[in-house]
Amino acid sequence: MKHGKQHQGVHRLCPLCGADNAGKKPSVYSQDEWIIKKCSGCGLVYLENPPAYEELEEIYAWEKTSSQRSQERTKKESALRQYVRKIERYKDRLIRRDKLIDLSEKYFPVGPVIDVGCGGGAVMSRLDKKHTPYGIEVSKQLSGSAQEIATARGGHVFCGNALEGLDSFDKDYFVAAIMSAYFEHEAAPREVLQKIKRVLRPGAPLVIKVPNYGCLNRLITQKKWCGFRYPDHVNYWTPRTLKKIIADTGFDIVRFNIGDRSPISDNMWLIARKPA
Ligand SMILES: [Zn+2]
Repeated sequence: MKHGKQHQGVHRLCPLCGADNAGKKPSVYSQDEWIIKKCSGCGLVYLENPPAYEELEEIYAWEKTSSQRSQERTKKESALRQYVRKIERYKDRLIRRDKLIDLSEKYFPVGPVIDVGCGGGAVMSRLDKKHTPYGIEVSKQLSGSAQEIATARGGHVFCGNALEGLDSFDKDYFVAAIMSAYFEHEAAPREVLQKIKRVLRPGAPLVIKVPNYGCLNRLITQKKWCGFRYPDHVNYWTPRTLKKIIADTGFDIVRFNIGDRSPISDNMWLIARKPA
């Protein structure tokens, strides 16, 4: 299903350094009407014409495109690659790996926690009881189920975009923030980080999980890399560009070690902190 006719395209400057790459050649990773650019100023790879927030709410609801994508991906994959994925999933279940929750237990103090881009509330539901979960979610369908999880534990979910959502909370309210599988979707990442800083208490941590465009799998599988999603993913972060936007917006980096940004993983994790 294509939505090309409805899509107006919002021309975007580089969300990291502000350079206008309108005159630059699109990347080979562009697809259909979706134009991917590599910034000539800072090197960030990003979608230059992302859908407007209103379009995201209705047409490109994450749950629809992701299931469509995974079906397409499964079709394209070799038998060997499918077998490897099956083993990876089995291993994850066996070890019960939940890095995000491990990090929250290590770094989050007791109190209210905000999950920006909380989806259906999967992360919130796994947070320890000492945390009151709050969330922001642009998809109406997903925010409904997240709302049930949050309100049952004394929290609340804002349905709408992150910029408006963050404005709706009080200054210095949260003891920690989570951005899991969200920051690759956000068309205004710099502004969102600034607003997150406002609602965090001094010294409060922010945990980010995001696909790593610099990973080996992307270099090997190229256009077939699972991190490409059109038009859902609008920023393709690498360890270098992620570190830069975190530092540029005035956060301290607490942890971003080789295990957090291993090139053999499709994702990377970064722990930042609002200065005390
Ligand atoms: Zn740039």
